[in-house]
Amino acid sequence: MTAWRQVRARVDAACERAGRAPSEVTVVAVSKTHPAEAVRAAAAEGALDFGENYAQELDGKRAACADLGGLRWHFIGRLQRNKAKLVAGKVALVHAVDSVALAEELARRAEGRVQPILLAVNVAGEATKGGVAAEAAPELARAVAGIAGVRLDGLMTMPPPSDDPEASRPSFAALRELRARIADALGAPLPVLSMGMSGDFEVAIACGATHVRIGTAIFGARP
Ligand SMILES: *Cc1c(COP(=O)(O)O)cnc(C)c1O
Repeated sequence: MTAWRQVRARVDAACERAGRAPSEVTVVAVSKTHPAEAVRAAAAEGALDFGENYAQELDGKRAACADLGGLRWHFIGRLQRNKAKLVAGKVALVHAVDSVALAEELARRAEGRVQPILLAVNVAGEATKGGVAAEAAPELARAVAGIAGVRLDGLMTMPPPSDDPEASRPSFAALRELRARIADALGAPLPVLSMGMSGDFEVAIACGATHVRIGTAIFGARP
């Protein structure tokens, strides 16, 4: 079995254990630093969603794979405002919006399209991390929800690195709770919870993840 199929099988099994349908969880294959050929190989196995952290790299790979059709590109990294034009209106989802200014720039650069976005939340309160603090997330969500040109679909988080998948559980549970609170306050469904990576995606699925971002387990270690 290929790595992609193994990962998808583990995702499906985690869904089953959680009493969820496998169709509820999208695997975003994180292809950053890997060549377009790696994307093609995974796509040939059935992968449809690909995640990148760098705007130029995404742009290049999307062009190199344009003939495949049907692929969905996700921008999962921190996005500098001056790179917004490279992704706005061109990707399925921008996972890590953390300011009104960035949301406004994406809206402006989407050129009449509506760019789906998530807010990146630093639920563990790590000083060195990007993302909005959990306490500030409701206010940011309200501000962003009022911007025509972007559509707030949900939240994403990246827990503190750990070798123990269970260490991520409190962060995942907190994101899910925060999503419920913000959805209530806005009266919007916010269907997407982007959480879980190679080391902890099964825990994330147990906690309600709808998008898991998996690189190493599919493509191997990054150079
Ligand atoms: C690189 C990256 C991933 C994938 O990490 P792996 O541990 O290789 O699965 C997921 N999310 C974000 C935001 C990343 O930068």
